[in-house]
Amino acid sequence: MSITILLRALDRAMQERVAEISGQNVYKCMQCGTCSSVCPMSGDMEITPRQAMLLIQHGLVDPVLSSRTPWLCASCHTCQVRCPRGIEVTRVMEALRQIVLRENRDMVNPREIPAESIAEMPQIALVAGFRKLTS
Ligand code: SF4
Ligand code: SF4
Repeated sequence: MSITILLRALDRAMQERVAEISGQNVYKCMQCGTCSSVCPMSGDMEITPRQAMLLIQHGLVDPVLSSRTPWLCASCHTCQVRCPRGIEVTRVMEALRQIVLRENRDMVNPREIPAESIAEMPQIALVAGFRKLTS
């Protein structure tokens, strides 16, 4: 099998994992951009929710996984409430995070958080952050 075919197969496998974990059919996305326009975090995302859907549709999951987009997603559900195709984008973002976390990769090291920050942060925010960012 050539490298190109192998890479395409890997991308398809990753695409299927997103579909399996999220339960969403990204092919229903018609690229209207509503999700990106209502997302409170899209201004800080290098890949917007609409762009993420397009990349996943084409089996290009790795660029989305390598971006900060899934981690910046606040799970506010605004995008899926407004999506005209009924796609639960929040579940897609959660699936992307799960793929990384299930590889035992942490996005934050609790030991590296300064003690002063821990003292200032609300405990509920710390717990929520660890649940979201650590495997
Ligand atoms: S709102 Fe729905 S259909 Fe429109 S770009 Fe976002 S995911 Fe696709
Ligand atoms: S759930 Fe995530 S992607 Fe959707 S609008 Fe909220 S922050 Fe943006």
